[in-house]
Amino acid sequence: MSMNNQGRPTQPHITEGAAETFTGNRALMLEEPLIFEIGAAEETGVDFEDVPEADSRLGGLDRNQPIGLVGLSEPETVRHYTRLSRMNYAIDLGLFPLGSCTMKHNPRLNERVARMKGFADIHPLQPVDSVQGALEVIHELGEWLCKLTGMPAVAMSPKAGAHGELCGILAIRSALEARGDAREVILVPESAHGTNPATAAFAGYRVEDIPATPEGRVDLAALEERLGPDVAGVMITNPNTCGLFEPDMKRISDAVHEAGGLVYCDGANFNAIVGRVRPGDLGIDAMHINLHKTFSTPHGGGGPGSGPVVFSEALAPYAPLPFVEKQGDHYVLIEEETAEDHHESSFGRMVAFHGQMGMFTRALAYMMSHGADGLKQVAEDAVLNANYLLRSLEDVLDAPFAASGPCMHEALFSDKGFAEGFTTLDLAKALIDEGYHPMTMYFPLVVHGAMLVEPTETESKEALDQFIGALRSVVERAKAGDETMHGAPYHAPRRRLDETAAARKPILVWTEPEHAEAAE
Ligand SMILES: *Cc1c(COP(=O)(O)O)cnc(C)c1O
Repeated sequence: MSMNNQGRPTQPHITEGAAETFTGNRALMLEEPLIFEIGAAEETGVDFEDVPEADSRLGGLDRNQPIGLVGLSEPETVRHYTRLSRMNYAIDLGLFPLGSCTMKHNPRLNERVARMKGFADIHPLQPVDSVQGALEVIHELGEWLCKLTGMPAVAMSPKAGAHGELCGILAIRSALEARGDAREVILVPESAHGTNPATAAFAGYRVEDIPATPEGRVDLAALEERLGPDVAGVMITNPNTCGLFEPDMKRISDAVHEAGGLVYCDGANFNAIVGRVRPGDLGIDAMHINLHKTFSTPHGGGGPGSGPVVFSEALAPYAPLPFVEKQGDHYVLIEEETAEDHHESSFGRMVAFHGQMGMFTRALAYMMSHGADGLKQVAEDAVLNANYLLRSLEDVLDAPFAASGPCMHEALFSDKGFAEGFTTLDLAKALIDEGYHPMTMYFPLVVHGAMLVEPTETESKEALDQFIGALRSVVERAKAGDETMHGAPYHAPRRRLDETAAARKPILVWTEPEHAEAAE
């Protein structure tokens, strides 16, 4: 075991056969201990004078004991976080094939707009007269979303895709309750995203599965058979998580409406159809749009996202508060359910304050810089790139639905043909050694050992060819039974982790090594 420069033991780096180093570092592959191991609670990086007690403005809520955070100097702090950041893969480092979770380039123009003081430095409790420009951005972005989806109303407040799903389902529940017809069941096809059944259950519905056809689409006959007076609605991901368009969407919507239910569409994959298909024309009642996927706002390590929800005429009256309304050339924020402004049937609110201003500005900048034609080309190029990948790999990787035609924005493969004992996990870990973040694995569940790959429209043919070459090489190793793959990754900051133990027995509290031994 090697020691790093703080004298703490570290996991020795790989490169079998090479001598261990004194520091645990290997050139630009740097070890980094936890901040608790390098800082000390009695140290601080700033020299504020102690604030005399009389000056305290906290009205008795001051801390009365230290909270045990460690102190570091500014250069130590900067280095700590910069070194940690270099252990991450990022969209700015290379192609990020994370199917089902679109990771595309974040244009720098959008960053510039988001940092403008008038957008970046405002506060949700500011008087509306002083934030007219921000409200205009929210309103205009909402209008773009309504136009692109062909839907009459939009709620801008949900903070992410799953939050938008909840918003849509709560609106469906309010609409059904308002007509005195509360129902209990939401139908979710097997090809739906995992957040869909979770949302329906969270909103208090019983979730029932609808099977997929051998072609990876919703089984329309099974759906029609299950519809009835207890079914509140369906949640359909379109394009679905097999990377396929649901061609029966209009027939599905008509059947659900005829049975008195409502149609939720998971629109997280809207980037595959934006500018080409308007969900409003397909009979959809509510759909969320992930600005952090389709409209390129950064995911930022899982957040902040933004998941606006568009609504049909039937659901618009139940949309959540607050929202922005244009009155003459003035923008107002409708905050309350008042009879006079006709929003008395709103189901309530999803959040305390309106908006994800940084996401709104970036998304609107993205839309305006592309224009309607440019957005259509985004979808076309995303689909073209995914199909290039599918056709370039189908001779080495099993592509279960490739025979039924082109895919949408993501290509789906299975582990069929791998040597005995070789798994999708082995392949994903070997891909890390090739310098790529793995694709989505083992999802969707309808495919054995699934690999879902989404290149997005922002990759060049050269970048795609290099990725295809890397993927082909690891697939060939998995088929030939190359035992070294079981040990991958070899060239990452950490080797293969025990993913089950990491999830089942998470260590959430740092203890000093001497105490840790005693605790065991
Ligand atoms: C990403 C995704 C979601 C969830 O969106 P979040 O913003 O991560 O909450 C839901 N459905 C599909 C199909 C997705 O790809």
